[in-house]
Amino acid sequence: MGAVPLNAAPSNPAPLSPAPLTAPIGEVVASRLRDIPDFPVPGVTFKDFTPLLSDGPALRAVVQDISRRYAGRVDVVVGIEARGFILGSAVAYELGIGFVPVRKAGKLPGLTHSAEYDLEYGSAAIEVHADAFAGRARALVMDDVLATGGTAEATCALIEQAGASVEAVEVVLELYFLNGRSKLAGRTVHAMLSL
Ligand code: AMP
Repeated sequence: MGAVPLNAAPSNPAPLSPAPLTAPIGEVVASRLRDIPDFPVPGVTFKDFTPLLSDGPALRAVVQDISRRYAGRVDVVVGIEARGFILGSAVAYELGIGFVPVRKAGKLPGLTHSAEYDLEYGSAAIEVHADAFAGRARALVMDDVLATGGTAEATCALIEQAGASVEAVEVVLELYFLNGRSKLAGRTVHAMLSL
């Protein structure tokens, strides 16, 4: 097959500025999450937000909703590996502030702080670069799902160990019955949807 010329018109061009959504943000989120039963282990229902990510107007609405909530209140967004990287970096870009990744143990190349914690399914360790925060940065923690709260709690501890403060924890979805907020007592926690 011959090469496609660079200036060839796409056969099905996507609109450059899709119409903004008017539904409340909780409905936008709820209608774009799907349940994957028995993933990653039997008995766990995985809340998959990739349908939300693949919908341009919905993704924009979610990023703008979060960004409006924290504009002027935070200096840096901290994303939790891996799904917290996606929305977290988009929110940081929208706010014009930096992004710091919290990664699974052994992934970050520089000197790190490390924390171990329990998960809904198993246990894990996460790390942040020790020099990730300049001065007393106010951090917004971002993840897709708040389940038992262990990951967010460990992330907050890492941020404070590294010399920054936690302004808020923001998640797309909170699994209310797992009571993750109890591990984050005294912190500001916001979920776009609570189930
Ligand atoms: P936890 O520490 O229990 O609050 O778990 C939160 C982390 O695990 C988040 O990074 C989530 O992405 C992931 N997670 C836990 N449970 C689920 C679930 N049922 N569906 C999707 N992600 C989950």
